[in-house]
Amino acid sequence: MTRILIAEDEPRIVAFLEKGFRANGFATATASDGQAACDLASSKDFDLLILDLGLPKKDGWAVLEELRGRGEQLPIIILTASDSVYDTVAGLESGADDYVTKPFRFEELLARVRLRLRSSRTPQSSETMLLQTGDISLDLRSHQVTVGDRQIELSAREFALMETFMRNPGQIITREHLLKHVWGYDHEPSSNVVHVYVGYLRKKIGEDYIETLRGMGYRFQP
Ligand code: CA
Repeated sequence: MTRILIAEDEPRIVAFLEKGFRANGFATATASDGQAACDLASSKDFDLLILDLGLPKKDGWAVLEELRGRGEQLPIIILTASDSVYDTVAGLESGADDYVTKPFRFEELLARVRLRLRSSRTPQSSETMLLQTGDISLDLRSHQVTVGDRQIELSAREFALMETFMRNPGQIITREHLLKHVWGYDHEPSSNVVHVYVGYLRKKIGEDYIETLRGMGYRFQP
């Protein structure tokens, strides 16, 4: 059974989440402060962590930092009280896999959880593990990226974005497509998160690979 750790200090939200997850066949456990969240997340007993940013003892940012600092791979979805681009982008850069803005509908969170669980599952060994286009290669298993003879470090989200470009070289990819396939959105949020992340990628791999087509989207030209 898939086990979800809920790090949230507000009893009303905890009850709401537990009820929803259990009704959908998940097992849950809760941590009402950041310290307990870190301890439980390290137990390897969980498949995913729902992390509120505003937690006592140790806030969600510190929990993220500690877990990712220890190399903990557990998928993490943060709950933020605001939908400011700063918080969400900072959260994703700190190693969260996704975020949901309060107040949220349970179905929305559930969709994100399912998406993250699916993408964190180990791919089949029969699948191609190395994507290569031009002088860029992506190892889907080790998440190693090389451009020419340079080894590049990408965050989980940058890697997912890069993978999408690599699978569609020379094609126009719309912002909506990227939001759906890399971020898991069915609707368009008002943030410019795609633009921000394409900027991060350009800084790391080089400015010339990804072209912006105004009003249309992006095109990866290896
Ligand atoms: Ca809180």
